[in-house]
Amino acid sequence: MTAPVTPTAPITQDVHTIPRKAPEGPTNLVGLRREAMRDALIAAGTPEKQAKMRVNQIWQWIYHWGVRDFDAMTNLAKPYRELLARNFVISLPEIVSKQVSSDGTRKYLVRIAGGHEVETVYIPEEDRGTLCISSQVGCTLTCSFCHTGTQKLVRNLTPAEIVGQVMLARDDLGEWPQPGAPKDETRLLSNIVLMGMGEPLYNFEGVRDAMKIAMDGEGIALSRRRITLSTSGVVPEIARTAEEIGCMLAVSFHATTDEVRDKLVPINKKWNIEKLLEALKSYPKLSNSERITFEYVMLKDVNDSDEDARRLVKLIEGIPAKINLIPFNEWPGSPYQRSSNNRIHAFADIIYKAGYASPIRTPRGEDIMAACGQLKSATERARKSRAEIAAEVQG
Ligand code: SAH
Ligand code: SF4
Repeated sequence: MTAPVTPTAPITQDVHTIPRKAPEGPTNLVGLRREAMRDALIAAGTPEKQAKMRVNQIWQWIYHWGVRDFDAMTNLAKPYRELLARNFVISLPEIVSKQVSSDGTRKYLVRIAGGHEVETVYIPEEDRGTLCISSQVGCTLTCSFCHTGTQKLVRNLTPAEIVGQVMLARDDLGEWPQPGAPKDETRLLSNIVLMGMGEPLYNFEGVRDAMKIAMDGEGIALSRRRITLSTSGVVPEIARTAEEIGCMLAVSFHATTDEVRDKLVPINKKWNIEKLLEALKSYPKLSNSERITFEYVMLKDVNDSDEDARRLVKLIEGIPAKINLIPFNEWPGSPYQRSSNNRIHAFADIIYKAGYASPIRTPRGEDIMAACGQLKSATERARKSRAEIAAEVQG
């Protein structure tokens, strides 16, 4: 095993995670890893000897059957169900609204504690269905082509709020198993991508715990190969992602020189292309995954030349990779334009000829602003526009 990459500088995050438990009031069982659930059950009076079995039972009810009510947990004695109800809740964030695109994409506006809102997007495809989930409200990073990056307010989502997005989507898709029904192998929600709002590696523990729950075989049971985490390049957390989550990795590469990447993905000033590539090289082996996805947003006259394509191929030499070309999705006031189709195809061709898969991501849900980089919740939009109005008045 390669030694974990040590941080070259402390990771600064002006974000905070709200405590999982309010000082008073019942504990939410959603979002607790098995060990933590066990501890909580014991603290509430479950005999230690029974605790493991109780975790197994409750876990299955919550994550396999999608049950939210202790009374429905019929293999638990009534007094024990009452003890649970006195001490715990099974609580999810709330879907405030749902929009359905003409292409079937569903965008959920999800309200979390404190009145904040995040967006979750479900993308149906022929052979699978992908849920794009958020890990933070807004983002502390400021990639110049990303709508989320213009949103000011930020806090980390809790594990319950992250895995809760998966559970809410399963509710909406009607996908919890029915007792006695044959096991359905084709799932509507078969894949997760951490490509919604926020930088997942700036909320490492929250994302890790939520994904561990989603992968647990007694519950939602999604294979780690069906979960892809996208990072802008938080280098010190990459080896840890391999070791502690083990999911597939996508990286927002987007440029082939530090000069351009500094502008597009400003975190590059902290960890440049060379440092990023070094961390990526060990990822497939550490995580036992086949390859890394390099995301590359196609911006007209900024990063889309043949020269860029050739440089890209050279840079990633030796890394098992696929390059996902993302036509830029415009948003109100965005400072860039999408490269032409011809340009994107010419770029893809150079990469393909060098031996890499180079799929062009079809924008989904554009009519409801659900495409990559368009997410930004309505309350935050309103918040900002009120601030802008105030500034105008003062000016
Ligand atoms: N913060 C993480 C994950 C969320 S963004 C990250 O940056 O990787 C998911 C992907 O969409 C990233 O590759 C991001 O760079 C890309 N993206 C952001 N804004 C976009 C836009 N306007 N058009 C196309 N892709 C965009
Ligand atoms: Fe944040 Fe990712 Fe958007 Fe950059 S692209 S601002 S890291 S959400």
